[in-house]
Amino acid sequence: MQYPEPISKLIEGFMRLPGIGPKTAARLAFYVLDMKEDDVLDFAKALVNAKRNLTYCSVCHHITDTDPCRICDDKARDESVICVVQESKDVIAMEKMKEYQGQYHVLHGAISPMDGIGPEDIYIPDLIKRLQDETVQEIIIATNPNIEGEATAMYISRLVKPTGIKVTRIAHGLPVGGDLEYADEVTLSKAIEGRREL
Ligand SMILES: [Zn+2]
Repeated sequence: MQYPEPISKLIEGFMRLPGIGPKTAARLAFYVLDMKEDDVLDFAKALVNAKRNLTYCSVCHHITDTDPCRICDDKARDESVICVVQESKDVIAMEKMKEYQGQYHVLHGAISPMDGIGPEDIYIPDLIKRLQDETVQEIIIATNPNIEGEATAMYISRLVKPTGIKVTRIAHGLPVGGDLEYADEVTLSKAIEGRREL
């Protein structure tokens, strides 16, 4: 069945989002048509504003509306520990736990030779640069517990260990193959507590 062009465009737009197939996209598009015009406008504005007003922190690469981000700028936080995660979503999951008081470093991906993603394609060189002023004493690697996440953890560990900085990996209370962002707070808190030295 052919949809009128405005609605097929909307469906195409939704289909660009992760995890949204044609059926869900069509359902969402028709839902939008039934929304009040003001609500649709607010939603559209929120999309555009998020894109325009957010940037990545020049220190940790977490998504932020200030640079450096509020976490990097918070003097009460422990500057001697950096938790390395794959995505900004993981920082948000960690922060929800409210136990971790150190800094972060967001890689924006993981090493994946199959997809042609090497260490230079994610923010590993920037991480190494952050270690040069000798403030950092521990790196907690909290990449996802899958092949790419493990490969990334091993790579960083090999680079950092010769500097004498302690490198730890969060424990596997996390489901193997799962994403950090989906871990509940208790599991995540246990995973940090049970971290082991690499
Ligand atoms: Zn930051």
